[in-house]
Order: sequence, then C-alpha cells, then structure tokens
Amino acid sequence: MRQIAFSVVDEEADESGERWALGALCDDLPALRDHCTDEPEQRLLSRIEAEARARRPIRALLADLIGGDPSGTTRGPGSGLPGGGPGRADEEVFGCPDGACDRTAPGVPAGPFPRCGITGLLMAPR
Ligand SMILES: [Zn+2]
Repeated sequence: MRQIAFSVVDEEADESGERWALGALCDDLPALRDHCTDEPEQRLLSRIEAEARARRPIRALLADLIGGDPSGTTRGPGSGLPGGGPGRADEEVFGCPDGACDRTAPGVPAGPFPRCGITGLLMAPR
C-alpha cells in the first residue's frame, strides 16, 4: 500500500536513512510547504515537521508524502542534499545545531547564520 521510495532495510541503514530524511526535510521544507497546498498533504507535512522536531522517525512519513506526489516529478527530497558537492575550503559551512541531520549550508559572507528549517534554530559552524 505504502510507497516506499527508499530501499534501506537493515537497522544501521535505517538510522542513516532517518538522518538522510531529516536532512532532506530540513533542506526542502520551504519547497515542500509550497508544494503541499492540499489539506491532507498539509496535515501530513505538519505531522512530519512535528515528528522531526521531536527527533522521531520521519522517513516512512516522508516517503508517504513524496511517494504520493501527484505531479509525478522525480524530484525527491534528496535532490537538494549536501554531500554531492564538497564545499569550497574558503567557505564557511554550517550544520544542524544538534547534529540530528546531515544537512549543511554554506554561510553567506558577513550575512546571517543559516537556520535549520525544522527547528528554526541557528545552524552551527562545522
Ligand atoms: Zn536541520
């Protein structure tokens, strides 16, 4: 019934899958909020946000949300993920304040610290 877009099964992979999901959510939350305009999706998204803030598992919920994407785009939450491009050395990189997700964001020189999309907390320099 449920469409799982991720193929990890064992527990170790499960944990990194959760970190991945958190990072993806953190990164793509503004886009997801834009995207989820229907009532059921909105409700699911706010549930995911609440779970993520409480640092509870969200991967399956996120898969539900993304898997049910009626637009049929292949853009999953992973497309904006860090890890693909290593930040340049002269660039300050920020990470989630409590290290719960793997998302990193480049700092804007002399600009404000980036914020975690899930908790709204200022991200910490890595
Ligand atoms: Zn985060």
